[in-house]
Amino acid sequence: MTEVAVVKDLARVAAIVAGCGEVALACHVHPDGDALGSLLAFHLLCRSHGVSSVASWGEPFAVAPHYHFLPGLDLASSPAAFPPRPEVMVTFDCSSLRRLGELEGPAQAAGELVVLDHHADNARFGSINVVDTAAASTATVVRRLAGELGWVLDHDVALDLYVGLLTDTGRFQYPNTTSEVFVLAEELAGHGLPLGVITRELFEKHRFAYLRLAAAALSRAHLDQEHRLAAAWVTAEDLAQYGVEFDETEGLIDLVRRTAEADVSCVLKEAPGEGLRVSLRSVAGVDVGRVASELGGGGHHFMAGFTSDRSIPATIERIVDRLSGSPPSTAGRGLPERR
Ligand code: AMP
Ligand code: MN
Ligand code: MN
Repeated sequence: MTEVAVVKDLARVAAIVAGCGEVALACHVHPDGDALGSLLAFHLLCRSHGVSSVASWGEPFAVAPHYHFLPGLDLASSPAAFPPRPEVMVTFDCSSLRRLGELEGPAQAAGELVVLDHHADNARFGSINVVDTAAASTATVVRRLAGELGWVLDHDVALDLYVGLLTDTGRFQYPNTTSEVFVLAEELAGHGLPLGVITRELFEKHRFAYLRLAAAALSRAHLDQEHRLAAAWVTAEDLAQYGVEFDETEGLIDLVRRTAEADVSCVLKEAPGEGLRVSLRSVAGVDVGRVASELGGGGHHFMAGFTSDRSIPATIERIVDRLSGSPPSTAGRGLPERR
């Protein structure tokens, strides 16, 4: 989407939000930092600017412990309290109706459905879609919408948006980390954010039990040299044995993606009652978003995921199959061609 189109649509969205009785806000299921940060920032902004709002996401209505410090989390409502037919509904960081879980019904029944996102594979399922694929995070889009509304950010809103920006750029390490990212980061940080504390809370603080589990997972991690793939996995048995909650393992992929011999890394995790949740990351030209979408999920070029109902080895095999299907391309990624 062009810059001009985004600005035009943002102006329409601003007029709709400013003029409505209540706005219903939702992010994708199993919210990550960008989904939560964007949602809560906009919820707080609505409240402080006289627009009534309700914010939620589909079950399980829980967040990983490293997101507990996000301002406004206590103001989110369970999906059961979500209006079934909202006058206006806004979705955050959500690439398809399916990713809304049980809030898909309200989205389909909404008078106006506004989609705020940055996924290239966004299905454009709204009546208005503000999908800026060049934006590093949905938080970036929310910042622009606030500007369009003439709404001023406060400390808590800035903190939530910063969490979105920080997590979706892999704390300024993924290839979507542009100079624009730092411009927004500087603005947000200028609200007096405790940057060191935020980084520690999000990425650098784990229970000792998690270190043990990570050690076990890394000690048996697999390197497929031919396909330049590093894979690690966590079973339900591991979680029980080490006394670790599923949600505590979100950062494991960032350890695995350090592998110098791999262009693609994956972590496969047995999620209670859900099969395997798979995280994929790419550090070179491989489009893991394509791999994930071919396997029923989605995401970005360098960061993606999907859910699998197969075994761990069978799922790794399927990833390898997709990787051998297309050789890595470094075009446009600012990287030298690898022989
Ligand atoms: P994760 O590895 O779980 O942090 O997910 C990385 C990215 O992949 C997310 O930010 C989403 O954009 C995308 N993603 C993960 N799981 C799914 C899924 N089941 N369906 C669609 N997109 C997904
Ligand atoms: Mn997300
Ligand atoms: Mn995002």
